[in-house]
Amino acid sequence: MQLVFATNNGNKLKEVQELIPNHIKLLSLADILCIEDIPETQPTIEGNAIQKAEYVKTNYGYDCFADDTGLEVEVLNGEPGVYSARYAGPQRNAEDNMNKLLSELENKNSRSAQFKTVVALHLKGKLKTFTGVCTGEITSTKHGEGGFGYDPIFKAKGYTKTFAEISLDEKNKIGHRGKAVTLLIDYLNSL
Ligand code: IMP
Repeated sequence: MQLVFATNNGNKLKEVQELIPNHIKLLSLADILCIEDIPETQPTIEGNAIQKAEYVKTNYGYDCFADDTGLEVEVLNGEPGVYSARYAGPQRNAEDNMNKLLSELENKNSRSAQFKTVVALHLKGKLKTFTGVCTGEITSTKHGEGGFGYDPIFKAKGYTKTFAEISLDEKNKIGHRGKAVTLLIDYLNSL
């Protein structure tokens, strides 16, 4: 079986490649010569994941899956959520986003948060979604050099280290994307 993973994010590709079994050939957007930005204009994480998978199927004809992820902070009513990538502005800069979130939380009495990933699969004319959640909290300063995005300020529940301080293997075991992709793989194996 061959499937396109609709992402231009090298970190996501690396995480997912670690999990996908060898009998599934994973194609990147570069492999199918899709170089444009895929629209993500929906108001929900699920909507954006579906929009990306459908875009690839419609415009390139490949069976495909796409993920969309958001960081939902309880005391901010679920923000930045679907707007996580451009939280601090259209430049989509991870440092700016983290700085904005840390300053929003400065005087708040709760730092509970969760990452949520929705993976949308377009396969043989059918659409399915898989959701993975990882609960935890936002730290008060950045720690660690690994990972990407908000990883330096997110600590999973029961962990003393941030996602930027643990291995990829460990992040995949407990993380939102790892959980959603594991459900995707279980589904593919059940066909
Ligand atoms: P998207 O799924 O690429 O739209 O990601 C939305 C935002 O969440 C971007 O700012 C990403 O950098 C961030 N993000 C997505 N996945 C992760 C993750 O696993 N760890 C930290 N930040 C992430």
